[in-house]
Amino acid sequence: MDQETFDFIVTGAGSAGCAVAGRLSEDGRYRVLLLEAGKRDSNPWIHVPIGFHKLYTHDTYNWRFESEPVAGLNGRTSYQPRGKMLGGTSSLNGMVYMRGTPADYDGWRQRGCVGWDYASVLPFFRKAEDQERGEDEFHGVGGPLRVSDQRFRNEIIDAVIEAAVQAGIPRNDDFNGATQEGVGYYQGTIGSGRRWSAATAYLKPARNRKNLVVATEAYATRLLIENRRTVSIEFRTPQGLQTARCRREIVVSGGVYGSPQLLMLSGLGPAQHLQDMGIAVLRDIPAVGSNLHDHFNSYVAWRCSKAITLNDLENSRLRKLAAGVRYALFRSGPMASNGIAGHIWNDFSSQSYKDLPSVGQITVTDPINGSDRKYTMPAGGRGYTRPPSLIRCAAACPGYRYSTSTAVIPCGCRWRRGSTGMLAMSAFLALRAHG
Ligand SMILES: Cc1cc2nc3c(=O)[nH]c(=O)nc-3n(C[C@H](O)[C@H](O)[C@H](O)COP(=O)(O)OP(=O)(O)OC[C@H]3O[C@@H](n4cnc5c(N)ncnc54)[C@H](O)[C@@H]3O)c2cc1C
Repeated sequence: MDQETFDFIVTGAGSAGCAVAGRLSEDGRYRVLLLEAGKRDSNPWIHVPIGFHKLYTHDTYNWRFESEPVAGLNGRTSYQPRGKMLGGTSSLNGMVYMRGTPADYDGWRQRGCVGWDYASVLPFFRKAEDQERGEDEFHGVGGPLRVSDQRFRNEIIDAVIEAAVQAGIPRNDDFNGATQEGVGYYQGTIGSGRRWSAATAYLKPARNRKNLVVATEAYATRLLIENRRTVSIEFRTPQGLQTARCRREIVVSGGVYGSPQLLMLSGLGPAQHLQDMGIAVLRDIPAVGSNLHDHFNSYVAWRCSKAITLNDLENSRLRKLAAGVRYALFRSGPMASNGIAGHIWNDFSSQSYKDLPSVGQITVTDPINGSDRKYTMPAGGRGYTRPPSLIRCAAACPGYRYSTSTAVIPCGCRWRRGSTGMLAMSAFLALRAHG
């Protein structure tokens, strides 16, 4: 592959990169190279929905980033898992199918992002989707991404949903439909009881395409720019440093951390910072690495009087065996679930919760993760966690305040507009990439 020429080169085979490379290579007109720093997605736990919890801190398939100490967290660091394999974070994530609200997209359009209003993006969501419930004005069928209802219903979640309904929050069975507000079970990017990552959706059907080259363990280290045009890319492989040339475009899709890192390594970024790292500045672009948004989770653990939690499964060989047999025979049961079952989204501004946020969202349940007691729940006994999960981007909704509160159980973590971070290189990383 060294010194070969392609029409398009895509760096990073994650949610975005797989879709872009898959679509670009579809009609055979273009020769496409897809570079992925991680390995193939061959570990079986990647494809079993409950395996999500085994990948959360995996040292092969996860970059396992850690933030610098955060003043707002009393000086603690924050763990940042990210997928490092074909499919990227879509091979590691919670598989919750959640597009965001129309207002998120319309807000982007209002700020000048032509083509990003909800009416413009909806046809692409429908085109991507293979919705188990069938087609309607919000959903499509026959697309590469399978979306299905949870195959495992849990009586704890049923009870939480019922309680929320009694508290006046409307029942909602489709968070990607007319409104996101309400309470109910999530749908997942799961097909036939298996994770449907972007790699499964877009690369599997492309397996036999001669015009798509997928290179794993190929870590892009520099875009090579001539006369203000990116003409080739340098990448590190187990065989050494290689380059590939590009006739048309290089698509940088290394994710929220990988993309700005590659731009900075290529001399595109905040000039002072690049100079401090010993990188020659090609163009001073202060925005690269800035304005980082993430959703913040904090966990509340509840003791459960019945042995029905996923933690009970984790702690019992017999239950694990039964769940394994059930999954193997019927692709159902707790192993077919991501363990993130339900959702409450409520617009508190419409009620008299003066001190609570305009919008709060919680993910109703999440199993205690036996393989990762540091980052999720410490309890080894019976119980379940209810991580309040904030997944809207503050920039998309100016004026909104964020909190983990719900109508049922307020708890005290709040995001305000302006709670953003930034990404910077460490001297070590800069040296290692170039070294
Ligand atoms: C723990 C967790 C749970 C989540 N749960 C959900 C959920 O339930 N539902 C949901 O919708 N979203 C969820 N998300 C978010 C969602 O998965 C991500 O937003 C999405 O996958 C990001 O896609 P991406 O293409 O931008 O990046 P990624 O999918 O992260 O892809 C980036 C890829 O680029 C590769 N890469 C990076 N740098 C280089 C380089 N220099 N050279 C070559 N390759 C490189 C990486 O290895 C990776 O494979 C979750 C995220 C996390 C971390």
